[in-house]
Amino acid sequence: MSDAPGGQPTAAPPTEGPDGGAAGRSARELEFRDPEKARALAEALERVVGEVDRDRVSVMHVCGSHEQSIAKYGIRTILPQGLDVIMGPGCPVCVTDMPEVDEAVALARQGVRVATYGDMLHVPGTVQSLADAQADGARVDVVYSASQAVELARDTDDEVVFFASGFETTAVATAAVVLAEPPDNFSVLSAHKYIPPVMEIVAEMPHTRVEGYLAAGHAATITGSALFERFVDRHGIPVVVAGFEPLDVLAGLVQLVELVRDDDPRVVNMYPRCVTEQGNRNAQEQLWKVFRPTGGKWRGIAHVPNGNLRLRDEYAGVDARRRFDIDVGSLRRGSPTPLTQACICGDIMAGRSSPHDCSLFGEECTPENPVGACMVSSEGTCKIWHQYGGHPDL
Ligand code: SF4
Repeated sequence: MSDAPGGQPTAAPPTEGPDGGAAGRSARELEFRDPEKARALAEALERVVGEVDRDRVSVMHVCGSHEQSIAKYGIRTILPQGLDVIMGPGCPVCVTDMPEVDEAVALARQGVRVATYGDMLHVPGTVQSLADAQADGARVDVVYSASQAVELARDTDDEVVFFASGFETTAVATAAVVLAEPPDNFSVLSAHKYIPPVMEIVAEMPHTRVEGYLAAGHAATITGSALFERFVDRHGIPVVVAGFEPLDVLAGLVQLVELVRDDDPRVVNMYPRCVTEQGNRNAQEQLWKVFRPTGGKWRGIAHVPNGNLRLRDEYAGVDARRRFDIDVGSLRRGSPTPLTQACICGDIMAGRSSPHDCSLFGEECTPENPVGACMVSSEGTCKIWHQYGGHPDL
């Protein structure tokens, strides 16, 4: 494990100073978007990809924020021809499985007030989304944080269920409100997911093309970069932790391809201004005090052992699954629409296809009228490509 890049790229991203405030922050953001440095990194990437002893190199990032940055700043247009940067299962909304959405919809239809993040509103369940249930009269509230859902519960006598989604970074916030003695009418329906196990699944998929992973900097602020060492030992695939500004992404890719070129599988932290080797131990303690990892299906991908986070027995009192008799049977008697069945989100998130391979992309399926979960979330590949006109590179 190394906190510094092994083979330094030609131009590393600038380091962040301790200054705060809006002006300082904006200056820092611009530093990480410096066109000259971006050009130097793009040249370094071209050179390093050319030094790999085969025609193509394929790497995967597992974070919607990375895809946002790649699309928003046009990074794909400067990637070398021989480099495929595949977006993996890095959108938590997209991988929330239909039965999990069904549970939230069923609760809402049973008269429970459901609070959830805005992106979750339009994610299709088996036959309905929460937005559909809301249109039918169910009470569904959009919240921006777990603590806002708690506030909602404090302001009413109604039962409020927080339909909680997101990876470990967001799960920490849910754990914090569970530990902070929420009101008796508050409970959690957890659809939280844990990223490291799905990296194992994708790495073990037959005919996988993934030769290296770009890991998400924000999740690693919690887990620490050392978490990926076991994965590297098991699969012999390098992992580079990267931030989200354009220079972060480019420098991360240069480092990753260097490791692939040198057949040097190890973990490199390219986001040391935020990520440490061991992460935030306090947050980890809270996370694992409240949640236990368990196996579960990720939408369109596979059953992921230890990929779902569920509340531990000690917190059964705030676990909506134990508190309510959730009648999902009535919903599942309906049938998914043929359009939903044609969605290939799972193949896209596993790196086997791109949004342009879907016949519904931009036609029947748009952000205004999403057919699949990948078109709903701002972290979903289809929505990002639709928004920024992403180019296929698969
Ligand atoms: Fe699914 Fe829509 Fe993406 Fe097609 S374009 S894969 S239907 S989300």
